[in-house]
Amino acid sequence: MTRTTPRPTPRPTPRSKPAPTALVSGASIAGPTLAHWLNRHGYAVTVVEKARTIRSGGYPIDVRGPALDVVERMGLLPRLRDAHIDLRRLTFLDADGDEITSLHPHAVTGGATGRDLEVRRGDLTDALYTAVRDDVEFLFDDSVATLDQTGHGVDVTFRGGGSRTFDLVFGADGMHSRTRELVFGPEERFHRYLGHCFAVFTMPNSLGLSHETVMWNTPGRTAALYAVGDDDEVHAFLNFARPEPPHDAFGDAHAQRRLVAEVFADAGWKVPDILAALDDADDLFFDAVSQIRMPRWSSGRVALVGDAAHAPSFLTGQGTSLALIGAYRLAGALADADHTAGFAAYERGARDLVTRTQDRVGAGGGTLFPATADALEQRNERLRALSGR
Ligand SMILES: Cc1cc2nc3c(=O)[nH]c(=O)nc-3n(C[C@H](O)[C@H](O)[C@H](O)COP(=O)(O)OP(=O)(O)OC[C@H]3O[C@@H](n4cnc5c(N)ncnc54)[C@H](O)[C@@H]3O)c2cc1C
Repeated sequence: MTRTTPRPTPRPTPRSKPAPTALVSGASIAGPTLAHWLNRHGYAVTVVEKARTIRSGGYPIDVRGPALDVVERMGLLPRLRDAHIDLRRLTFLDADGDEITSLHPHAVTGGATGRDLEVRRGDLTDALYTAVRDDVEFLFDDSVATLDQTGHGVDVTFRGGGSRTFDLVFGADGMHSRTRELVFGPEERFHRYLGHCFAVFTMPNSLGLSHETVMWNTPGRTAALYAVGDDDEVHAFLNFARPEPPHDAFGDAHAQRRLVAEVFADAGWKVPDILAALDDADDLFFDAVSQIRMPRWSSGRVALVGDAAHAPSFLTGQGTSLALIGAYRLAGALADADHTAGFAAYERGARDLVTRTQDRVGAGGGTLFPATADALEQRNERLRALSGR
């Protein structure tokens, strides 16, 4: 376990009682945001993260709507505007690699030019961490082993050894949340598989792509190369439809590579090069496309936030925004209320937005991942109409 900061004190508040204590599990997007705002509301906050450090790099993500207000209130908007990825073109290819159409990405994603942000995930996590690291205790390379709620708090033991008691505990530990498993039960109860799997990794930019995405589709299969700038590397993205989740492949990188290679074995365009790069990739990220749907996000003194509570899937492009908004509102709900009233207000306030966002995902994967020949043809017609071809 690595302690990076001395145990800090919360910002001064008018409270006369000792500061309430909070443990946040997970230091990506929801975790540091929640830590920041809890600290502002007078909590002494500890964040535990299983990785050795904040994970930088990573795929591009969007920050939209009210989530922009959250990062603005944290003073991060100028920095994130500087990190904005100016994606200029999205080109769709058919099975042979011939162009169907080429558009500005916002024509497809519905983003707002000049307002919405698209940044590398690592640029956002770095900015959030920098905003909070001096005010909050971070424990890296460690995680929660057990949680035991008592009348006066939550007794926590850590995998790295040691135990402490906190007034409140928060799970901001993502889609496969350990906090959720410990408090609410196995992931299967809340996991809704959306019929696709995906692999992302970086590979050399051999096509010389710049500020653009090129996407190849056949029914149920998508291969995309995403150049966030003029870099030597691009993000490769392989997505495929599969009726049942490939349980054997989760947690087994060799099985994941085999499965992806099998699914794309006869694919055209540059897919053979992408598969060759997959063999060499040391940053492969493979998962099912799925959502987390829970009837409640809190139990006693423990609450979930971000993907741990309500992952909407990347098909919505809203996971990051929901994580930022949820963390901000959860901390706000605890500013002047005890945890029972605060958690109830958080659930009431965020539920509608979460449900509407999650419901936006159609069964077929929408525009980017049409699963059948008919759906693909209809998608291509829509794209041609959008571009006037
Ligand atoms: C390929 C891809 C593309 C995406 N594109 C977009 C997009 O365009 N727009 C968008 O809004 N969203 C997008 N998303 C979704 C977005 O990444 C998530 O919704 C967002 O990161 C959720 O943030 P979070 O903080 O809740 O969880 P996460 O980012 O998953 O972070 C969880 C953190 O908890 C840590 N952790 C896990 N387990 C433990 C443990 N037991 N103990 C301690 N720490 C733990 C992890 O290391 C991690 O740091 C995409 C996701 C993927 C995979």
